[in-house]
Amino acid sequence: MSRALTGPDRRGHFGPYGGSFVPETLMAPLEELTEAFRKAWRDRDFRREFQQLLRDYVGRPTPLYYASRLSEELGAKVYLKREDLCHTGAHKINNALGQVLLARRMGKQRVIAETGAGQHGVATATAAARFGLKCVVYMGRVDMERQALNVVRMRILGAEVVPVTAGQQTLKEAISEAMRDWVTNVRTTHYVLGTVFGAHPYPWMVREFQSVIGREARRQILRCEGRLPDLLVACVGGGSNAMGLFAPFLRNRTVRCIGVEAGGRGLTPGDHAARFAAGRPGVLQGARTLVLQDDDGQILPTHSISAGLDYAAVGPEHVWLHELGRTEYTWVSDEVAVQGFELLARTEGILPALESAHAIGWLWQERRRWKRSDLIIVNLSGRGDKDVHQLADRFGAAAVHAEPPA
Ligand SMILES: *Cc1c(COP(=O)(O)O)cnc(C)c1O
Repeated sequence: MSRALTGPDRRGHFGPYGGSFVPETLMAPLEELTEAFRKAWRDRDFRREFQQLLRDYVGRPTPLYYASRLSEELGAKVYLKREDLCHTGAHKINNALGQVLLARRMGKQRVIAETGAGQHGVATATAAARFGLKCVVYMGRVDMERQALNVVRMRILGAEVVPVTAGQQTLKEAISEAMRDWVTNVRTTHYVLGTVFGAHPYPWMVREFQSVIGREARRQILRCEGRLPDLLVACVGGGSNAMGLFAPFLRNRTVRCIGVEAGGRGLTPGDHAARFAAGRPGVLQGARTLVLQDDDGQILPTHSISAGLDYAAVGPEHVWLHELGRTEYTWVSDEVAVQGFELLARTEGILPALESAHAIGWLWQERRRWKRSDLIIVNLSGRGDKDVHQLADRFGAAAVHAEPPA
């Protein structure tokens, strides 16, 4: 495999991207984390314990499901990688468990995390409960109101959820607050970052923990189709479910890898999170990557119907793979994502997370391009139960309430 496709280099660079742009006080802890991960990942016992947890606790391997009615509708042969069937309902638990195992191995008694929609917070609180570690989750106050049930979930799991009231009171501020905590408490505390983002070693470490998705999918598609897929499709927030699926296929150049970003209400600044369409290189929260910013380098606000895709920057490895021409990125609007959601519900009886619905929606939007023989794997990164209340109005909740009792 070409070295460029297996990065990062020792200092965490993916070509000109990645690296570690952090305060001086975090340099040594990040190096310690890098060494601890490097050793653990080579250690048979660590790998065995992680694998056993993934099997017995998360429920892996997740199925690769042939979606026959969806395939009929799209005019291609479509398989779904069922990360929605993971414990806690999304792929995030793979990474959270990996990092909590590592934290315990490093002798840390406390983990912290940031969360936007609450999915990563719930995954971290779950993994911390499983290993009896203290857990603190930083969350913007606005997000806490939007995702009140996830706040309750985390608290039931024994985590402390700390409201962040700075700035827009959403994910970006929550990350800054978690960083501040980490700087202060780094001796006792591990920071569980939720995606392939931030300073080295996070993009690399999270990719490795999530690559189980692609390794399973590769084995599964070879078993049932006898060949590699033509196309992999995944939604891209920070980019961890996409990297997890893509990574084990990167050396097979016939396999196209497509990431779908949040186009929100359209590509006007502030209305979307399409970093590849509208971002420029810059440094945000520890790494050099593509960032949505104005001419003065101010970070732009973002919008997406799905909180998990709603962020101004993207994982640095994606940017590098894109420059190398190995991966491609596109976006769909909120509207198309909702169409994807409905389509999967109606044809397969599966409610996807609104994030994953972007990938389905894109396949539907581009349906004229597909041939019957096209073999496609879509990463169904999570389940949609969390999003039902958001769609309630579209599906007549108001009308139901207005109905007089029978
Ligand atoms: C968090 C989340 C995402 C986006 O994060 P990535 O790191 O890009 O995978 C996508 N889907 C679901 C279900 C999520 O919870």
